[in-house]
Amino acid sequence: MAEIHRIAVIGAGTMGAGIGQVAAAAGYDVVVADTRSRALAEARERAADGLARGVAKGKLTREEADAALGRFGVAGDVAEAASTADLVVEAIPESLELKRELFAVLDLAAPPHAVLASNTSSLSITAIAEATRRPAQVLGMHFFNPVPAMRLVELVRGQETSDATLAAARAVVERLGKTPIVVKDMPGFATSRLGIVLGLEAIRMLEQGVASAEDIDRAMELGYNHPMGPLRLGDLVGLDVRLAIADHLHATLKDDTYRAPELLRRMVAEGRLGRKTGEGFYRWEETR
Ligand code: NAD
Repeated sequence: MAEIHRIAVIGAGTMGAGIGQVAAAAGYDVVVADTRSRALAEARERAADGLARGVAKGKLTREEADAALGRFGVAGDVAEAASTADLVVEAIPESLELKRELFAVLDLAAPPHAVLASNTSSLSITAIAEATRRPAQVLGMHFFNPVPAMRLVELVRGQETSDATLAAARAVVERLGKTPIVVKDMPGFATSRLGIVLGLEAIRMLEQGVASAEDIDRAMELGYNHPMGPLRLGDLVGLDVRLAIADHLHATLKDDTYRAPELLRRMVAEGRLGRKTGEGFYRWEETR
């Protein structure tokens, strides 16, 4: 498998912007593509801010940050972005239908040697790979939010994923300064399955008036040493994203542990999605 130099990231939202930033900082040529031009401008701005914070913390020099930003391109055309990529990382919304449609397009557009990865938190990599003629070159690369700060990447092996594809992805993850774990293509992989249980239970406790949002979060922060409580984390992830994952796990694992609480459903219906809309379980001054 050819070495990976050029990475296309499809979807310039919460995750895509961060993946683009860390890939550019690690020396890859990056193009981030989105169908919304506003998302592209915001992604570049967020990457510039993130790199500037890295400079302030002494993680990289001003020159290195400028060079990284120079390697961070944006594109409105997904097929064009994929056409020169060695690795494509998809980070569009959590819908199997949308992702399969996109992977069919990427398969036609990307060079034959290219690896196609999905940042899905819960969907079947095997089902996504079936939309392509190169299932051996498809895998899950599940990054965590916020991407520059989080050290883990779950590599998800679909039924057809080859050893060479896994090795190529592992090399990229290591060059990004992160640690990979390899998981089987089961709903929710390792992290979402565990994380969603805690997140949904915290919402049920809030619904039942067990404690305030702040105190439920403090319970896990101070009592269990979690860096952030489950409700605040839900706000950062996006409550729409959390709900989609819960619904998917409920449907596929057929287990009521994953049934979404009414409160979560209502908040999503009302557009209270967390930090990205300025309000979730908390009020967020600065929206994205
Ligand atoms: P998001 O809604 O912030 O961003 C998605 C972006 O994709 C939007 O900018 C949208 O315009 C764009 N888009 C939609 N359809 C497109 C298409 N066909 N072509 C190009 N662009 C398209 O979503 P997100 O939170 O970044 O999540 C993206 C993926 O990452 C999801 O699969 C999610 O489950 C996964 N994920 C999210 C988090 C998180 O904390 N938010 C963590 C890990 C994994």
